[in-house]
Amino acid sequence: MIDFDRDYQMIIDGELVGTPDTLEVTNPASKESIARVPNATKELLESAVGAARAAFPAWSRRPLVERQHMLTQIAEAMERHAEQFMALLTREQGKPRAGAEWEVLGSATWFREIAKQSLDDEILEDTDQRRVITRFSPLGVVGAITPWNFPILLAVWKIAPALLTGNTIVVKPSPFTPLCTLKLGELCNSILPPGVMNVVTGGDDLGKWMTAHPDIDKIAFTGHTETGKHVMRSAAATLKRVTLELGGNDPAIVLPDVNPQAIAPLLFWAAFQNNGQFCNATKRIYVHEKIYDEVLKALVDFSRTIKVGNGAEADTHLGPIQNLPQYQKVLEYIDDCKQHRYRFAVGGEVEKNPKGWFIPVTLVDNPPDESRIVAEEPFGPIVPLLKWRDEQDVIDRANKSRYGLGASVWGKDLVAVERIGAQLQSGTVWINEIHQYSPHQAFGGHKESGIGCENSLHGLMEYTNWKTITMNKRVGFGAKR
Ligand code: NAD
Repeated sequence: MIDFDRDYQMIIDGELVGTPDTLEVTNPASKESIARVPNATKELLESAVGAARAAFPAWSRRPLVERQHMLTQIAEAMERHAEQFMALLTREQGKPRAGAEWEVLGSATWFREIAKQSLDDEILEDTDQRRVITRFSPLGVVGAITPWNFPILLAVWKIAPALLTGNTIVVKPSPFTPLCTLKLGELCNSILPPGVMNVVTGGDDLGKWMTAHPDIDKIAFTGHTETGKHVMRSAAATLKRVTLELGGNDPAIVLPDVNPQAIAPLLFWAAFQNNGQFCNATKRIYVHEKIYDEVLKALVDFSRTIKVGNGAEADTHLGPIQNLPQYQKVLEYIDDCKQHRYRFAVGGEVEKNPKGWFIPVTLVDNPPDESRIVAEEPFGPIVPLLKWRDEQDVIDRANKSRYGLGASVWGKDLVAVERIGAQLQSGTVWINEIHQYSPHQAFGGHKESGIGCENSLHGLMEYTNWKTITMNKRVGFGAKR
């Protein structure tokens, strides 16, 4: 029986492990302490990596169907515990019920769908003379390092493909949101053999130790672009494989032929889903000048129907900012807008001494392209609306970013939206829809938004080494004289 309300312990070699030193976890809606979690030492990381290493040979040799079956069992167990996961996710992350449901049930779906995937041998030649195949063999021990915005889903995006392809794993959640990952670890360990999946908790240093660890073969990382660069630098010492899912500054381009009233709710959720704490949140909304004023007004009107509050209350649409440093960062963007006298179409005023880390929905009316709010990733509920007139110019403005994670285009003219979409430099381009993900669809960033991808067979391959085996079947040197 997993108790979701207490006993937050690490999982090392199938055992629950605590530490005398612990880290506090707080509820961002109330600032109250909700739990304490272990603060792993280097020695405990050593044990986790050692356990994963020891479990690797047997796990990687197990028939694929058995690994697939266990992932499906995990999906079923997650669904059985969905209510508990959702409540805990709201408590530690802050997101309201709808977002928690999307994340928890989505995570179960990911396990189930990834379990259907396989990387078959590629047969390049098979004649009487020769046989040439490329096989995908597991890497060994994977280290997964995850952020606080989608703590369960982004861990599952790493755990499921790593285990399916025959690797073992050590997972480190963000110190701000470790609770659901620890419970996921317990749940997976009731199904998996000991050592196959280990969960360790601690601060950023624990992540650094993992990236430097000689016995970890790959780091699967989601987080800030700057952190991703540290990860890559550190991983270079042992030539670890890396997948880096990093920051974004996604543009949305809105054509003049859309209905402002109809598009406003879609644009609102594109930008404010998860309170803007979303790598793929729309962070720049470019609206054609012909409909700019109407779209802005419709967005402001819609935002007035949105309740920001404690995610545990049924009528809340947007929760708090997840943690104090992020709250302070968002305040900096609001202050910067004030100092430059950019106009807030809505929001911009933050309560002094709030009960939780709440920030009102804030829309900035046409600030300059070089402003911080346009050029950087605020990662909160503050979004600029920008005017455009010329198609090529807006494409150039959208692409003028070091990021290239996602983008969207909205319009009735399907030829125009496709033409514009094709020129946007990003890993995903959504046209007349947004935030549609699938376990079978490659997801990753261009430019400084990342390296490699997650999901799909391309994502699976990132957990393997290619091994090409060539065989000459005419063994002339084998005959006895
Ligand atoms: P972060 O980079 O601060 O932390 C992410 C994880 O890395 C945490 O577990 C942290 O403890 C660990 N860490 C910190 N320093 C480390 C180091 N030097 N070496 C190894 N590990 C280290 O990111 P965050 O604030 O938790 O998340 C927000 C960021 O994540 C945003 O930039 C967002 O766009 C990005 N993100 C990207 C995606 C994507 O798929 N591309 C998805 C979600 C979030």
